[in-house]
Amino acid sequence: MRNISAATLAAVSEAEAVLAPVFARFDETAKTVAEKILSAFYDNRVSEAHLHGTTGYGYDDRGRDTLEKIYAQVMGCEAALVRPSIVSGTHALAVGLFGLLRPGDTLLSVTGKPYDTLDEVIGLQGDAGNGSLRDFGIKYEQIDMKDGFIDCEAVEKRLASGGVKIVFVQRSKGYAADRRTLPVEEIGSLAGTVHKHPGVFLVVDNCYGEFVQTDEPVALGADLQIGSLIKNPGGGLCRTGGYLAGTKKAVELCSYRLTSPGIGAEVGASLDENRNMYQGLFFAPTVVASALKCAALASYLFFHAGFRTSPSYDEERYDIIQTVDLGSEKNICAFCRGIQSGSPIDSYVTPEPWDMPGYTDRVVMAAGTFTSGASIELSADAPIRPPYTVYFQGGLTYETGRIGIMRAYDEVTQITK
Ligand SMILES: *Cc1c(COP(=O)(O)O)cnc(C)c1O
Repeated sequence: MRNISAATLAAVSEAEAVLAPVFARFDETAKTVAEKILSAFYDNRVSEAHLHGTTGYGYDDRGRDTLEKIYAQVMGCEAALVRPSIVSGTHALAVGLFGLLRPGDTLLSVTGKPYDTLDEVIGLQGDAGNGSLRDFGIKYEQIDMKDGFIDCEAVEKRLASGGVKIVFVQRSKGYAADRRTLPVEEIGSLAGTVHKHPGVFLVVDNCYGEFVQTDEPVALGADLQIGSLIKNPGGGLCRTGGYLAGTKKAVELCSYRLTSPGIGAEVGASLDENRNMYQGLFFAPTVVASALKCAALASYLFFHAGFRTSPSYDEERYDIIQTVDLGSEKNICAFCRGIQSGSPIDSYVTPEPWDMPGYTDRVVMAAGTFTSGASIELSADAPIRPPYTVYFQGGLTYETGRIGIMRAYDEVTQITK
């Protein structure tokens, strides 16, 4: 194995000693979530037969139907759709939005502008006529966050004047450096406000948030939460897929969009994915705790090397994303080089900035993952623009993730010296 410098090894030893109580908190959350997951396996009498899939229409796919009950129980809601046929988080979110919204309705985002990939779904970008929500006569409004919090007063006021069908919340800050990630309790209190208005759904983009806290948004009153199986809840084993979980009514409406009216959730061959989806959920609390430990380690190391980090290493965490403001293109490239060289796949590759379609600035990415694009695995990306922030997440195991972080630290501190 390539040498990691003595200075880096010493810094990591110090970091791990200081972080012990922080890591213990992540482990406590994982224990609580693991208990919930295992209880759901017991209550639903999971047997080996559930791990096998179906083909064709997938009628009476016991594995699929039972997994959806397990997801509902674990998330704390009535129903769920958990499908390998959902191609990504964006697709799952589109199913949720198109499932619930009708012409003339208003979609109200209350955490500022949603994740970039939803621009074309909503119709904020892209050609007219492409089948966006806007094409179907669905209006979009947004209320920006105020000092990092949802502006509940403005939300109340807007709901009172009518026409809103969905109040939309993005839990994780995603790649918006200028906002904070919401603790699930704040989404819960928003649910109280929203549900004073019958017929309005509270829908949560839950990407990167699953199992970081012991409760999920739907357990605290949201109508629907949506996420990707190649992030937290897939536990690193799901090869593709997405989920929607929430009230029976909301999930049923979404099922008609996922497949077709009249068919809903009753079809959909799970092929050979059931085993990965069950086992992935089983691993997920541990994998999420590992990702959180990697994030805290990176935060500690880079903060003490003089960089701004968010969250700080001992702050409460509500998603798995860590940002480090690296101050220069050179540092960003060094960081990504380190992460890439510490990855299990493509460790010999050197990431370079490139003009990614759809982005204004050049972007550099590091990802050497078993599942293509899986950001529950150790990965980093950074747009090349001040303050040269790298977004870092994942680590299937802490023991391997820390190696990537040590290499990133080695690379960056050698330049800085
Ligand atoms: C990952 C993510 C999505 C969906 O992205 P996909 O790449 O389509 O899976 C949506 N919102 C947030 C906040 C995300 O992190």
